[in-house]
Amino acid sequence: MSKAIPKRSQDYSLWYNELVKRADLAENSAVRGCMVIKPYGFAIWEKMQAVLDGMFKETGHSNAYFPLFIPKSYLSKEADHVEGFAKECAVVTHYRLKNSEDNKGVVVDPEAKLEEELIVRPTSETVIWSTYKNWIQSYRDLPLLVNQWANVVRWEMRTRVFLRTAEFLWQEGHTAHTTQGEAIAETKQMLEVYANFAENYMAMPVVKGVKTESERFAGAVDTYCIEALMQDGKALQAGTSHFLGQNFAKAFDVKFAAQNGELEYVWGTSWGVSTRLMGALIMAHSDDQGLVLPPMLAPIQVVIVPIFKGEEQLKEIVDHVQPYIDELKKAGISVKLDDRDTLRPGFKFAEWELKGVPVRLAFGPRDLQNKTVEVARRDTSEKQVVDVDKVVEHIKALLEDIQQSIYKKALQFREENTRKAESYEEFKKLIEEGGFVLAHWDGTSETEDKIKNETKATIRCIPLNAEKEEGKCIYTGNPSSCRVLFAKAY
Ligand code: AMP
Repeated sequence: MSKAIPKRSQDYSLWYNELVKRADLAENSAVRGCMVIKPYGFAIWEKMQAVLDGMFKETGHSNAYFPLFIPKSYLSKEADHVEGFAKECAVVTHYRLKNSEDNKGVVVDPEAKLEEELIVRPTSETVIWSTYKNWIQSYRDLPLLVNQWANVVRWEMRTRVFLRTAEFLWQEGHTAHTTQGEAIAETKQMLEVYANFAENYMAMPVVKGVKTESERFAGAVDTYCIEALMQDGKALQAGTSHFLGQNFAKAFDVKFAAQNGELEYVWGTSWGVSTRLMGALIMAHSDDQGLVLPPMLAPIQVVIVPIFKGEEQLKEIVDHVQPYIDELKKAGISVKLDDRDTLRPGFKFAEWELKGVPVRLAFGPRDLQNKTVEVARRDTSEKQVVDVDKVVEHIKALLEDIQQSIYKKALQFREENTRKAESYEEFKKLIEEGGFVLAHWDGTSETEDKIKNETKATIRCIPLNAEKEEGKCIYTGNPSSCRVLFAKAY
């Protein structure tokens, strides 16, 4: 294998970019900010999708698909929404090319100008609410619980693979309800779904909270979010769930006949997570040797590397391990036998380490005689020689243990890097050191902006579990009733 990846302590950002490349997850494309997700990276995304999709269906949602293109007039119907997204919209103006006059290439055909320009969806509220108008007449049509898996385009200026791309894959849920209470309950329910997914599948602890007005989704009444802490002490917003009030219902005139016969505007929500979660997963657990994947989302959970000399010995080992492979598969564990005879075991070990396979088995000739196998866990690099007849049970327990321990490690890191600031001086010092900082804030966008300009720290959220605590804003000294969560963020 080529030289090692840079160390996190040397250059975290370079470490991340190299890791994404070397672990075969994704690469940049000819269009700035757009990525190619490679098969190994996509296999992880597919696992994420499968789990999330199951959770959405479990909570009553169905999948549908809406168009990529949105008429410009739709986007403008909700004033805050268009203002929020206008700065990053890709716009389709023409539908045809033609040969240039000097015949050296093609140019946009000026005669093929669209009557109404089209926006490549940055999010689908407008196209979906314009459709919901036709789907919703009475309270019997509600609640409407729909999700779509799609790509969206936001013309981001500063991009980074997975974390912030111009085109990304995501799911977006869009629901419609008869009452405000029901829509708020849905918003909170989906936040819980995301938090459950982050913690129990990604093994990534998250803080659940509400965004401040300036960080709120354009067009929402309230934005709930989950925030995670990456190993370099920066925060990452990992998912959002929006209570839309009646904003989109009013913009698109979506009313329903209530039980008493009166026409009322519908209440809405929308919620989404994206391929950013891939970046979160990488940054939350991986180390200087490569990826560390939680077993729940690892495309390959166990890799078997035979240690052999010559074809005959390889065959002997492969025959010997086959029943264990069958048994592991039967237990729902994904296994790969790396029987390539052109590479040395040490090379294979490093490659699977780089790719974050949670458990590695090594079978050598001596293991055949002794009925043993060497089991290595990726997260701690610990190795153990195990009685081969007990290997399946051993692996089942080990996978669970790895899942738990990487969560605990991430949680411990977050706890050690969440601190309270009592003064602006202390705040600035802590923010410079990295991590989450809990501090009092006077509740105004003005103060939030000033703090952001001076320190680059933003209010990640007002944590849902924030205890009531009388205090003084670290910046203005004005009264505050709880601490909010600050950090520098991706
Ligand atoms: P939003 O619609 O802005 O609430 O975003 C929905 C989800 O997409 C959130 O979980 C964001 O973290 C994620 N997201 C927003 N912008 C990007 C981007 N440029 N690249 C990747 N993910 C994004």
